[in-house]
Amino acid sequence: MALIRDLKGVTSTACNLLEKLHLLTTDDLLFHLPRDYEDRSTIVAMNQLSIGRSYLLEGEVKSVDFPPGKRKSMAVQVQDEFGKVTLRFYHIYKALTDKLNIGQRVRLFGEVRIGARGLELYHPEILTLQPLSRYSRLTAIYPSTEGLNQKKLREYIQLAFDLHSHDLTELLPKQFSKDYALKDALSYIHHPPLQANMQQLMQGQHPAQQRLILEELVSHQLSLLTRRAYVQHTASARCKPSKQLAKALLATLPFSLTNAQQRVSKDILSDLTQNKPMLRLVQGDVGAGKTLVAAVAACHALESGWQVALMAPTEILAEQHYLNFKRWLEPLGIHVSWLSGKQKGKARQMAEATIQQGIAKMVVGTHALFQDSINFKQLGLVIIDEQHRFGVDQRLALRDKGPNQTTPHQLIMTATPIPRTLAMSAYGDLDTSVIDELPPGRTPIHTVTVPLERREDVLQRIVNNCTDGKQAYWVCTLVEQSETLDAQAAEATYIEIQQRFPELNVGLVHGKMKANDKQAVMQAFKNNELQLLIATTVIEVGVDVPNATIMIIENAERLGLSQLHQLRGRVGRGAQASFCVLLYKNPLSQHGQERLSILKESNDGFVIAEKDLQIRGPGELLGTKQTGDLGFKVANLERDQYLLSQAQHIAQQLMQQDPKTVDALLNRWLPNAPRYAYV
Ligand code: ADP
Ligand code: MG
Repeated sequence: MALIRDLKGVTSTACNLLEKLHLLTTDDLLFHLPRDYEDRSTIVAMNQLSIGRSYLLEGEVKSVDFPPGKRKSMAVQVQDEFGKVTLRFYHIYKALTDKLNIGQRVRLFGEVRIGARGLELYHPEILTLQPLSRYSRLTAIYPSTEGLNQKKLREYIQLAFDLHSHDLTELLPKQFSKDYALKDALSYIHHPPLQANMQQLMQGQHPAQQRLILEELVSHQLSLLTRRAYVQHTASARCKPSKQLAKALLATLPFSLTNAQQRVSKDILSDLTQNKPMLRLVQGDVGAGKTLVAAVAACHALESGWQVALMAPTEILAEQHYLNFKRWLEPLGIHVSWLSGKQKGKARQMAEATIQQGIAKMVVGTHALFQDSINFKQLGLVIIDEQHRFGVDQRLALRDKGPNQTTPHQLIMTATPIPRTLAMSAYGDLDTSVIDELPPGRTPIHTVTVPLERREDVLQRIVNNCTDGKQAYWVCTLVEQSETLDAQAAEATYIEIQQRFPELNVGLVHGKMKANDKQAVMQAFKNNELQLLIATTVIEVGVDVPNATIMIIENAERLGLSQLHQLRGRVGRGAQASFCVLLYKNPLSQHGQERLSILKESNDGFVIAEKDLQIRGPGELLGTKQTGDLGFKVANLERDQYLLSQAQHIAQQLMQQDPKTVDALLNRWLPNAPRYAYV
């Protein structure tokens, strides 16, 4: 391996461009894999073209002209036996015009677009009329950056290949490289041979690709496992196995834990009593009762003298947890305190001081808890609610918040049910428990879809229901995922409803309001002083008002399925029958109809998440924070699921037996990811 800068024939301008693509070494070049292939093997008839695809075409130049317009351009009509296309050039020079005289035969390659004259090719490549067999069948197309064309990139990759492919090391166990040695696999993928099966290659199904995919998945697993090892390498805030405080808490509740809650609580207690830090993800559908499981876990740590921090992604949710924990724990003699980014001046200083002195035992708050200025005296357990909004790095930052050399236990709770395969990749560093049972007495939510034209009907009905004592949410969303615009839409709806139905008690809550005001409105809704709550998606996660039984979601077609499921999970929390009305804007595409009907048919967050994954891909499902972690070069989580358990298995073995190979794999596949010393 060598630095690209040291190669002859690569200019320093080119080096800078390659650096933009994170390509620094010859190995980086070798592993810069095609994102697509062009087929230059067959000349395609001009009546067989689809827009947006690239083709090899051949025909006769019929006309050349310079149409009037703002930008000077040249339009060249080329025709074959079957049809015609227009070539359009904005950059015109003699060598080009020489090749394009009327009556001349030309061979072209380029992407077909729709232009002023029908099918057009902008600046196609003009190729010589040599026999076709001289072309490579499939030409690799690489991810690139402005200023660096495919031809150059191909050249550099070839150069790296010629110079350094012989010193590539095999890093996978032998049985996985026997069909394709690494060098051969790379060679195949960069330069598919004449007889290559194009279909197979385009779908990532060729054995040469599969071998690399496996290697990348293994490396990805390794990055998770090394992170895990890094955290677990330190001592934990070990807890006593006694359960007195938890028992005392449960004795005050009007119900008992469900079997699933009990099972998960047991997993957690067993982790907490170990001398390595817990890293556990608790998954449970909306309403499964995760908060109580968190409270039970908190009791174990508190009883052993540790401080506990509970973090939630939004102010509203954090406040709700704060009030719950206060209600549950203060009667048991535990001081519960509050920390948020909005706290300023004296209040903030006080909050920080009580945390630092260890007076605050149970601290509930938002992201603010991660900040450097927050120092705990004896932090033993961190609980993160609705995990998908936090990034892995934020999770790692917690390692430093514990007292000297110990790492707090981490309990992560998510209501976005994550399909197993995806969980393995996104949360491979965590142990998982699932609360797969809802507390008794819940009635399933009845979901209907209604076009926006019938909004007035829906509104009248909701108002009637609310005057009869029911409570409802009305959720406003807009095209862009913008809390500001959503807030405006919610305000407009609020004003409209208030003016038209003055007898109704209507509330408004959105992310642009002050924390206190939001809290007051939520509290009034909880107390049944408000019957209708107009809201934005800020209420998406966690908020709990068991008496609310109706939810209307405007522009439902614009939200993700899991998000809709989360939202609708705000109702259906008591014994009464609940309804969810998804208002959609016509015309709704076939695809849109299918999506919404999934919600009508299923109340199971896992089923919905699987579908969401199929429809929208993993990045969307996990939220933007995590997509960076999932930036694969060759692997595709959905397509390559079948390789995941094998990858996990290989990774585990390598971790135990071969730290050198682990490092080499991480360097090869994840050269830009933060590296954690794990031994
Ligand atoms: P989520 O899993 O969505 O965070 P919550 O923790 O908010 O769910 O719980 C939803 C509701 O269920 C709350 O009102 C809570 O008090 C109630 N709950 C939790 N556990 C039980 C149980 N074992 N039996 C009855 N109700 C429960
Ligand atoms: Mg919750």
